[in-house]
Formats: sequence, C-alpha cells, structure tokens
Amino acid sequence: MSNSQNHQVFNHSKNKNLPLSLSIIFIIIIFILVSQDTATVIPVLGFHGVISNQNSITQIDQDKMHYPRKNLEMFLEYLINNDYWFLSSQDLYNILSSKNPSISQVLKKRKPIMLSFDDGYKTVYTNLLPILKRLENKYNKKIKVVLFINPGTLANKNSINSPNLGCEELREGLRQGFYDIQSHGLNHKDLTRLRDKRLVKELLQSQNELRKCTHDLDPDKKVASHFAYPYGAYNLRVKKYVAKYYLSGYLYNNKLLNRNILRNYYEIPRLTVNQLESVKTLIEKFDTNFNSKSIKLLSIKEKPEKSKIKQ
Ligand SMILES: [Zn+2]
Repeated sequence: MSNSQNHQVFNHSKNKNLPLSLSIIFIIIIFILVSQDTATVIPVLGFHGVISNQNSITQIDQDKMHYPRKNLEMFLEYLINNDYWFLSSQDLYNILSSKNPSISQVLKKRKPIMLSFDDGYKTVYTNLLPILKRLENKYNKKIKVVLFINPGTLANKNSINSPNLGCEELREGLRQGFYDIQSHGLNHKDLTRLRDKRLVKELLQSQNELRKCTHDLDPDKKVASHFAYPYGAYNLRVKKYVAKYYLSGYLYNNKLLNRNILRNYYEIPRLTVNQLESVKTLIEKFDTNFNSKSIKLLSIKEKPEKSKIKQ
C-alpha cells in the first residue's frame, strides 16, 4: 500500500468516526436528561427525630440530625399539594423489581417519594404522628412514613423518660396506617465489625422482635422485611447476610436513587436530612424544577420558624 493510500484510509476512518462520536455524545446527553426524570429518580429521605420547638434545639452535634416540627409540617404540606406519592418500603421494592415497562409512565404521573425515620425516637410518635393525622383530616390524604427501628432499644412500660418509642406506640401508628415498620438491626451496631454469629443475631432477632410486637396487626409479615444498615455501614459480607433475611437494604449516603443506575436492592441510597436544612434546600435536593414561590402558597410560612430557631 502506498503512502497516499495509507493517508486516504486514515482520513476515511477518521471521517467515519466523527458521526459515531457525535452519536455517542447525543446518547450521553439523552441519558443525562432521562436520568433526571421523575420516572427514574426516586427521592428517599432519611430523617431521625422531630423536635417540637426552639428550646429543643441544642448545639450538640448529635441533636442536629433531628428536624424541626414546623418545617417538617410545611415540607409535608408542599408534597401533598404537589401530589407526591408516599411510598412504603414494599411499594419501592415493587417498583424496583417491576419488569413492566409501563411503570415509568405510572411514576411520571405519581411522583414517588419515600420518607424514612431512623432509630425509633419517641418524637416520631409525639410530634410526627399528630402532624400526619392533622394533614389527613385537612387534605384527606394519608402520608406513609417508613420507620427503621432497633427493637433492642425500644422503651418499655417502666422507662417513661426514654428518648425512644415503645412497642405500643409503634402499634398505634401501624394500626392507623401511617407507620411502615422496618428493621435497623437489634441494637444499632456497626455490622461490618461483628463476627458472623453476632451479625446474624442483629439481623434475625431484630426481625423476630418487631414481628412479635406487631403480629396481630401484620398478618402478611410486611413488618421487618426491609433493612437499613446502622450508620449506613456495610460491605459484601454484611450485604450477603442481609439478603438472607430481608428483601432490600438502605444506605445513608446523601445520594439520590436513580432506577437506571441502581446496582442491586441492597444498596438503596438515601438523602440525609438534618435540622440546618431549610424546607427549600430539602426540596431542591430532589426537585430540580422547584419554584420557591410555590411554597408561599402554603398556610405556614418558613420565615417565622427560622427566626425562632435563631433565638
Ligand atoms: Zn441509625
């Protein structure tokens, strides 16, 4: 082959590659656009307790993870007004495992979101449950919240001062259809540090005790079918054991769940929430089209609550 022929061949292949690279860029752009779609992105929020007023807000780091009640109520009202669908852990599992292509159309129309509350704080009963009842009466819509509970730290009848809720309180929220009770391990241990036997105990005893507490209210055993790793800590071994007893596993990594890139049901990402985040920043975490004007339509205003916190 002469030099000129070589040159021609080279040029020819170069030209041929150009449309190919353009189409790859096009595909990537389409993928990015599609991946931002409500049909593929499902926000799963991770709260802890719900603090009632400014006096409860302290400077201790541990307490910063609790969310102010008024802000939470405004956030929930925003979600109701914007027609969000409050997923249970089983709803999300059904969506993720669905092979039906029409599921994307359903999700576009219904805007799914999951609200989860970890560690079983009593304020999820004393502060959150009344809000859920009030909003149900006002809008005739039931908000489902997922509670990831450690049954080893539940309050018993004699521990009035416990910061945690007890079995009776869990049962009440379940009976009324607001709570979806799931497992967070028996005693909130970092599972990656436990030997196999202890690890299995944390997983299995947690499931047994939660189901024992709710057995008559939960004939289908939906309670404690899904798991949130304490501290979000997991590895291959932990994941393997969780998969033996549970249908899915939740992280705590401040990432958005994207159905297109989720690798498996045992690595469901959650957005972390702390009290320093305003309602606006909370919404902007998952709603890129959020218009802050719409929040002014709500009956409760964000500003007074914020200035209260600073006092
Ligand atoms: Zn936790």
